Amino acid sequence: MTFAFATIRNAVLTAAAAITLASCATVSAQEAPTVTAAAPTAQWITLGTSGGPAVQVHRSQIANALVVGDAVYLFDVGNGVQRQMAMAGLDENHVRAVFLSHHHLDHNADLGPVLVTHWTFGQGVLPVFGPEGTSHLVLGLADANAPTLLAGFPTGGPAKPPLRDMVSAADLPFALQEPVLVYEDENVRVSAIGVDHYQLPPSVPLDHMPDAVAYRVEAGGRTIVFTGDSGPSPRLARFMQGADLLVTEVVEAEAIAALLTRTAAGAPDAVRQSIIAGMRRNHLEPAEIGRMAAAAGVGAVVLTHFVPSPEDAADREAYVRDIRSVYAGPVTMANDLDRF
Ligand SMILES: [Zn+2]
Repeated sequence: MTFAFATIRNAVLTAAAAITLASCATVSAQEAPTVTAAAPTAQWITLGTSGGPAVQVHRSQIANALVVGDAVYLFDVGNGVQRQMAMAGLDENHVRAVFLSHHHLDHNADLGPVLVTHWTFGQGVLPVFGPEGTSHLVLGLADANAPTLLAGFPTGGPAKPPLRDMVSAADLPFALQEPVLVYEDENVRVSAIGVDHYQLPPSVPLDHMPDAVAYRVEAGGRTIVFTGDSGPSPRLARFMQGADLLVTEVVEAEAIAALLTRTAAGAPDAVRQSIIAGMRRNHLEPAEIGRMAAAAGVGAVVLTHFVPSPEDAADREAYVRDIRSVYAGPVTMANDLDRF
């Protein structure tokens, strides 16, 4: 199945990068050719590892950088991403593309600062990919920042073009049932698939539930799958088949229950149970991660987007115990700025 270009709403494609959405052919995880072995080494950096919209003490919000040579590709841009990039020694002028898994605040909070910083210091067009709503978000941020652009900074050089001309935004096809190639250049190939987040009633009236995607990245001779946020999902399970590295979100229900007992002691038990049930449907628990990783034969598992933060949990081993019981490969609980 091939997605027609017309299905990508509001896509603003430029020649600035070798964006392959125009062809947008579906690929199977197994068929996708690997980027040449001569490609430079690729590193995945967990810039921020917390989950949820609340800003936390011990961990920055979810954000990741794939670094190939001096090129940087961002996967989710939660609050603090630019500070974390600086801490990792990454040059914000070298961001080639931004990939959003979905539009919860912990995943897209700092897209605006990333875009304006690109306008201020960068050159060329920065492409942003994500589920339906990405174009709305990017172009809205460009417009909303008009006063910021007018204020400007004395960066020298010729006058800057409008921010809208220095970004491009593409909505991925809705409810992707099969992997689709969304981007490739000399360093990376990036594919996406729809996953199963948002399994709860919407908080505002909607025509349909929003979408969330996972990304599969081939770079430096390795394949890395980033889950974004998802509940148990057969598509996600297939998508990670044979990956060298699985970077996955994780929720730990016992720790959530304990946290709610402390922080929402006055809430009816039914409310707390409902919250926990929702987390289990919309996110991945260790046992499910282990089951999928073992079945898919992934090379290693990296846990990120912790809910709750392990620093707030009494039993840190609970995040990995049920993975290790069924999956024999290495399992790492990522910290901010870890490199894989
Ligand atoms: Zn999240």
